[in-house]
Amino acid sequence: MPVLVMKFGGTSVATLDRIKRAAKRVALEVAKGYDVIVIVSAMSGKTNELVGWVNETSPLYDAREYDAVVSSGENVTAGLMALTLQEMDIPARSWQGWQVPLITSSAHAAARIEDIPNDNINAKFAEGMRVAVVAGFQGISKEGRITTLGRGGSDTTAVAFAAAFDAERCDIYTDVDGVYTTDPRITDKARKLDKISFEEMLELASLGAKVLQTRSVELAMRYHVKLRVLSSFEEPSDNAGTLVCDEEEIMESNVVSGIAYSRDEAKMTLVSVEDRPGIAAAIFAPLSEAGVNVDMIIQNIGEDGLTDMTFSCPTDQVLRAQKALDAAKDSGALVFQELIADTNVAKVSAVGIGMRSQSGVAAKMFQTLSDEGINIKVIATSEIKISVLIDRKYMELAVQALHDAFELEKAS
Ligand code: ADP
Ligand code: ASP
Ligand code: MG
Repeated sequence: MPVLVMKFGGTSVATLDRIKRAAKRVALEVAKGYDVIVIVSAMSGKTNELVGWVNETSPLYDAREYDAVVSSGENVTAGLMALTLQEMDIPARSWQGWQVPLITSSAHAAARIEDIPNDNINAKFAEGMRVAVVAGFQGISKEGRITTLGRGGSDTTAVAFAAAFDAERCDIYTDVDGVYTTDPRITDKARKLDKISFEEMLELASLGAKVLQTRSVELAMRYHVKLRVLSSFEEPSDNAGTLVCDEEEIMESNVVSGIAYSRDEAKMTLVSVEDRPGIAAAIFAPLSEAGVNVDMIIQNIGEDGLTDMTFSCPTDQVLRAQKALDAAKDSGALVFQELIADTNVAKVSAVGIGMRSQSGVAAKMFQTLSDEGINIKVIATSEIKISVLIDRKYMELAVQALHDAFELEKAS
C-alpha cells in the first residue's frame, strides 16, 4: 500500500482533544488506503519545560543526559496517539526512536540522522498494522545513547521517514495553514503562499522562520520528498496548505518571496586586533573549534596596524565564543584590546530567487530601513538573500516595513 507521512507539531497534540482531532485526520488517510507513519512532537510547551529543568539542575549539563530528558515529551504523545487510534479501531502502535531504530550521529542536542532501517515497521505493516506512530525529534547513537535532532527536529524526523519509506507525500500539520510571506504573528498582511521553492524555504528556515526546521528542507530537497505544510485546525481539503517544491514548478513569484527574522542573534566586536595576514584564521579557527556558528562578519579598515572585527553568532553561544577568544588571547595566538558582546540585536532578512536576475533589492531594503530611522549594524548577502543586523527593538517594525516595501501582500 502507498505510504503517507503525517507530522503533528506541538500545538496539534497539545491536549487529549487535539490528539483525537489529529487521529481523525489520520483515519481519513487510512480510509483512502494509505499505510500511515505519524510523527508526533511533544505537547506544546513541554520541551521548553524539560529544557528549563535541565538548565536548572545542571547549567553546564552533560549533553547525553540533556537528550535523555528533553526527548521524553515525544514518548508521551506517541503512546497517546497510538491509544487514540486503537480506540478508533485502527491497528496502530507507537515507536520510540531507538525502537525503529532511527540511527543518528553522536552530536547530542544537534544529532544528524544517519540511517532509518525500514524492516521493523514494514514487517508490522505487512501483518496488518495501518499506522506506525513514531516519536519525533529523537534517535539513538552508535554508542547506544538517546540523541535529539535540535529544536524543531520532528520536522526532520518526518521528512527522513518519508524518504526512507518512499512515501507519496510528507504532510506537516502545524498551527498555521501554510508558509507565509513572513511570520503571520508579526503582520496580518502576511500572505499564504501556495507554493515555495526548496531553496527559498531553506533560506527562510535557516534565517529564522521556524515553521520548518532547516535540516528537514535540506533532506526534502535532496531526496525529492513532496513536502506540504498545512493546518491541523482547518477542514481537510486536497489543495490546502503550502507545497514546498522545485523552482520549475512555480510559474510566478515576486522578486522577494519572504521576510524572515531571528531574535536570537548577538553581535560580537573584537576591538583593536592586529591587522595582519592570518588574523581572520586566528579568530575564527578557535571559534569553529568551540562549536560557535558564526554567521555575518565585517572587518573595519585598519589604522596603525590595528583593526576591529565584528561577527554575529546565536545568543546562546556568546559565552562559548568569549571563552574561546579569551583562551586564544591567553595563549598568545591572538592579540586584542577588548571583546564587546551586544545581545540586543536581531537579524532581518529578505529572501527570493528573483534576486538572482533583478538588481536594486538591496538598495530598496536599505532605503526602507533608513526611512524608518533604523540603523543597520551588519550586512550579509548571498545570491538569494540579504540579511541585516539591527537593534532588536526595531525588529517587528523592520519586518512590517519591508513586507510593505516589497509589496508581499500582493501576489505578482
Ligand atoms: P509546530 O509546533 O507545529 O512545529 P512551530 O511553532 O515550530 O510549530 O512553527 C509554526 C510557527 O512558525 C507559526 O506559528 C509561525 O508563528 C511561525 N512562522 C515563522 N515564520 C513563518 C512563515 N514564514 N510562515 C508561517 N509560519 C511562520
Ligand atoms: N518538541 C521538540 C521541540 O520543541 C521537537 C519539535 O517539536 O519538533 O523542539
Ligand atoms: Mg516546529
